[in-house]
Amino acid sequence: MSETVHHSLESLRALIEATLRGLGLAEAHIPPVADIILAGERDGGGSHGLYRLLMVAKTMRMGTANAQAVPKVVDVAPAMVRVDADGGFAPLAFQLGLPVLVEKARAGGIAALAVNNCAHFSALWPDVEAVARHGLVGLACTPSHAWVAPAGGRVGVFGTNPIAFGWPRPGKDPFVFDFATSAASRGDIELHRRAGKPLPEGWGVDADGKPTTSPEAVLAGAMLPFGGHKGSAIAAMVELIAGPMIGDMTSAESMARDGGRGSAPLGGELVIAIDPTRFMGPQEVDRVQAAEAMFGAITGQGARLPSLRRYAARRRSEQEGMQVPRALLDEVAALLAG
Ligand code: NDP
Repeated sequence: MSETVHHSLESLRALIEATLRGLGLAEAHIPPVADIILAGERDGGGSHGLYRLLMVAKTMRMGTANAQAVPKVVDVAPAMVRVDADGGFAPLAFQLGLPVLVEKARAGGIAALAVNNCAHFSALWPDVEAVARHGLVGLACTPSHAWVAPAGGRVGVFGTNPIAFGWPRPGKDPFVFDFATSAASRGDIELHRRAGKPLPEGWGVDADGKPTTSPEAVLAGAMLPFGGHKGSAIAAMVELIAGPMIGDMTSAESMARDGGRGSAPLGGELVIAIDPTRFMGPQEVDRVQAAEAMFGAITGQGARLPSLRRYAARRRSEQEGMQVPRALLDEVAALLAG
């Protein structure tokens, strides 16, 4: 029997939506949550595709996310909007906040969206890509659970704290990057554990603070930030601006609230949108060309732009569908069995 099963975007969406419905997620949340999971699988799978459905199910079963959440949009200031996610998953709250963020950024040149009081299981690239597709520069970040020790330490303080950036390009897909500020995402460590593979060096330490390549030892010890002290400081910044600054939890507080149940991180996300044409003014055409020249200087020497792999995978999935691991589909099916 083949190890993968072919799915079209439509058939996989139907499967994800039926699973979310079967798990008891309120109807309003099903399309936005399914969109995010499907987009991850469509753009190359891995830790933020269908695999995330397992985390969503676990979070719902543990009762750490409000499956019936009704998010509320609050107009905080001319350049600030908050969506209180009511303890539910982030995608619906983001979807409700996005039009207000875009309108405010267009009106004032810059605006910020805080999604508060949410369960955050998703990647950040969909959020900054959505902002960039409105012609705005986007920056997003979120804390998670305190799994990552500071450089030079051995006890988790930071979350994996992803940071994502989107830049609109004329006639092209936006330039987008999105990565954890840990040396790897927690999902990748989980995937190594499931596959029985050792980790690359530098991803984490064991409970005694010794470097190790064992996924189990790192999951019991602490992950490490990327880039030594530099990544450590950026992770601290994410804690501050997407935690206390938006009136929400740090990764340590999220983990304490979770109480070892292993559900999705709880807390907030910060999204900043900037209208690039405001500072550019009459130089807009020339400065957009300068940005394009920079992209050309990267690709012209054989290096690749972040997001190009994603867009290529997306085109393939749209045309040919996706090969989804059978074992993963079995795990998803088991969510509703019994
Ligand atoms: P990676 O280390 O895989 O880095 C991904 C980014 O780097 C992508 O933008 C990718 O572009 C780009 N990239 C990768 N390789 C190259 C290369 N050779 N040249 C140029 N660009 C490259 O990501 P992580 O494992 O750190 O994070 C994975 C995901 O996990 C993120 O989406 C993040 O948001 C999510 N996450 C979510 C958390 C949450 O609590 N909600 C917590 C932590 C992480 P491309 O896509 O084109 O390959």
